[in-house]
Amino acid sequence: MSCIFCQIAEGTIPANVVFKDDKVMAFRDIHPQAPVHIVIIPIKHIEKLTDIRGDDFGLIAYIFDIANDLARSEGIAGRGYRVVVNSGKEGGQVVQHLHFHLLGGRQLSGELG
Ligand code: AMP
Ligand code: ZN
Repeated sequence: MSCIFCQIAEGTIPANVVFKDDKVMAFRDIHPQAPVHIVIIPIKHIEKLTDIRGDDFGLIAYIFDIANDLARSEGIAGRGYRVVVNSGKEGGQVVQHLHFHLLGGRQLSGELG
């Protein structure tokens, strides 16, 4: 298994985990770009946005539900936050396992490329 996020999901690579159930996991980014920077992944290996299938739409909606819950528990829900997905090479995706960046805790601007 060469996928680093699958290895984090399996527990073979350590991470600062803030949420985990049988479908979704969230952990703090190792190189945080903001005071709150959490990476949210489906446990199931989906490579990128364009690999999402109809059966996965409930899972994706659930990820946004988790993102909102985490924003609340991190204290940034009222201030505002950003959820970002980089997909594919020109989208800036480095880790080839679909993930959602939850960013907040400072004023975000001008980071959409
Ligand atoms: P992306 O450019 O969207 O593929 O983002 C990948 C993110 O994963 C980057 O923000 C990295 O800092 C983060 N990352 C890579 N390896 C780890 C790790 N072992 N634990 C936590 N975050 C990681
Ligand atoms: Zn994976």
